[in-house]
Amino acid sequence: MTDDLQEQAIKDLQLMVACPSYCDEEHAEEGAPFGPGIAKCLDTTLDIFEKNGFSTYKDPKGYYGYAEIGEGTETLAVLCHLDVVPAGDLADWNTDPFKATLIDGNLALVGRGVQDDKGPTMMALYALKAVTEGTGLVPNKKIRFIFGTDEETLWRCMDHYNAEQPQADMGFAPDADFPLIYAEKGLLQAEMVGPKVTDYTVTGGSALNVVPNKAQYIGPKAKEVAQALEKLGYDYKQVDDSTIEVYGKAVHSKDAPEGINAITRLAEALATIYDDPMIQLLGKTVKADANGVTLVGDVEDEVSGKLTFNIATIQCDANGSKVGIDLRIPVTVDKDELVHRLSEKLEANGLEYSEVDYVASLYVPQDSTLVKNLLEVYRDYTGDMEEPLVSGGATFARTMNNCVAFGPFFPYSDNTEHQANETLDLKEMRQAMDIYAEAFYRLAFKE
Ligand SMILES: [Zn+2]
Repeated sequence: MTDDLQEQAIKDLQLMVACPSYCDEEHAEEGAPFGPGIAKCLDTTLDIFEKNGFSTYKDPKGYYGYAEIGEGTETLAVLCHLDVVPAGDLADWNTDPFKATLIDGNLALVGRGVQDDKGPTMMALYALKAVTEGTGLVPNKKIRFIFGTDEETLWRCMDHYNAEQPQADMGFAPDADFPLIYAEKGLLQAEMVGPKVTDYTVTGGSALNVVPNKAQYIGPKAKEVAQALEKLGYDYKQVDDSTIEVYGKAVHSKDAPEGINAITRLAEALATIYDDPMIQLLGKTVKADANGVTLVGDVEDEVSGKLTFNIATIQCDANGSKVGIDLRIPVTVDKDELVHRLSEKLEANGLEYSEVDYVASLYVPQDSTLVKNLLEVYRDYTGDMEEPLVSGGATFARTMNNCVAFGPFFPYSDNTEHQANETLDLKEMRQAMDIYAEAFYRLAFKE
């Protein structure tokens, strides 16, 4: 790597950040299914790669694009995404989120997307340039940068890509941590559905990927509910004569056992008063179980650990009772078998199972050539012998065979993605670029 290449990476990253590429389907148009910001970012990015000697392709419907260099029968994929989460409350930002700004005496860059995932995309591009520029080296396979456009929402971009384009032979997603992530659990989101409840309502939770930190009861037996909660020793507040709020601790669903689930805590109290099937199941059977043992048995494997099971949302009222759940399934476990067991358990309790979304797991064995090579690059460069990682989170690596998540963040990096003042440390950026350059060299240039 050179200072000059890093400077070019920063300049082009600033062009990308200037496109407010959050999902805006209200303003979707032909060729721009996720709105104008994402469409502009796709065009801008393809221009940047073209300027650097790549041939490019843009999906006419606007779901994805790619940029390719090199010849050969094999393809190495670099899986990137151009969309970002919205800026959130502008008052929380010290700078304009869509104007990437150098701070701290030019030691860091702030702006939406500098960490996730525009910065890593530019790091990988200019790391590859470091290998080719002025060296006469030519890759022995195709290197294809694939640009997804709705990673932060529903991954429809990669559904289109995979329906229309060939699979790569190997690859990596620069969208997570070093050393690398070789296993990501399967992700299942579903609903448990049951009969209506009369004369009270229960609500709680806001998103399937978060452990709910608040649940609410409204009904005529608030006093009894309060007494039951008092007995259980749970954190709650009686808001008025008919309203009780129970509190928990929010964490990401993938870490569900580390949170405190406000919904199941409230259900434990309600189950001593009401005998509706949903409340009984949550309050008498599930309780604080965040590994699903009470519903599907003890599920774990050696590679990726235990199943996590989050009771994420609840709505029980005169229309019915509905509970949203989020399961992170160990990589070697059969999902259909698991769903079968869960459905049977629910049916036995007068409830039904209904699937919302499923994303299959990622698993590339540790003794594969890809993992061995990338791990060696990281270890040679850093001297850090940390073992490769397993994650409950999700990257595009799982959309393609033989792909892993590889960097760009170090065990000591400050993770600010999705937050206000998203910041890229330029020293770490340079280190990651050095690692990517070596990885490209070993995977696609060395004989
Ligand atoms: Zn990302």
